[in-house]
Amino acid sequence: MADENGNRNRAAIAPGMPVRCSECEGGLNYRGLGQYVCEKCGHIEMDDYGKVRAYLEEHPGAMQRDVSIATGVPTARIRQLLLDERIEISAASGIFLNCEMCGAPLRSGVRCKECEQKYKAKIEQEKKANRVQNQISGHAATQNKGAGEMRFLK
Ligand SMILES: [Zn+2]
Ligand SMILES: [Zn+2]
Repeated sequence: MADENGNRNRAAIAPGMPVRCSECEGGLNYRGLGQYVCEKCGHIEMDDYGKVRAYLEEHPGAMQRDVSIATGVPTARIRQLLLDERIEISAASGIFLNCEMCGAPLRSGVRCKECEQKYKAKIEQEKKANRVQNQISGHAATQNKGAGEMRFLK
């Protein structure tokens, strides 16, 4: 049945995708970047991606929380859009995301390039340290004893 196929296509829609024009109930045609144009009156509707993108273009540097309040798109979904890199933030709005380690502004992702390298190196080091620690545990206590007593004499 034709109806069944139609429904199947509808299931592959973007989050928050508009179905009808809010002005005249006309049908919508996708025109890219999360925007849909009404085939009757030319009014533009947006899905979640389009809303977030449009807001960021007008408010460079806006924080996720503010974008969420303004667009009605949950922060979790905004974050997901950014992580998927569906939204490439322009240099002007670079402070929208911050590196989780050093706080440097990011265009996408979770960590800046430098921290990503440090992060990987640290994980490697921790793996090695764990191996070494198992071998030297017990030594530290005997070495510190003498120095500690001297200090308290002052
Ligand atoms: Zn319309
Ligand atoms: Zn960083």
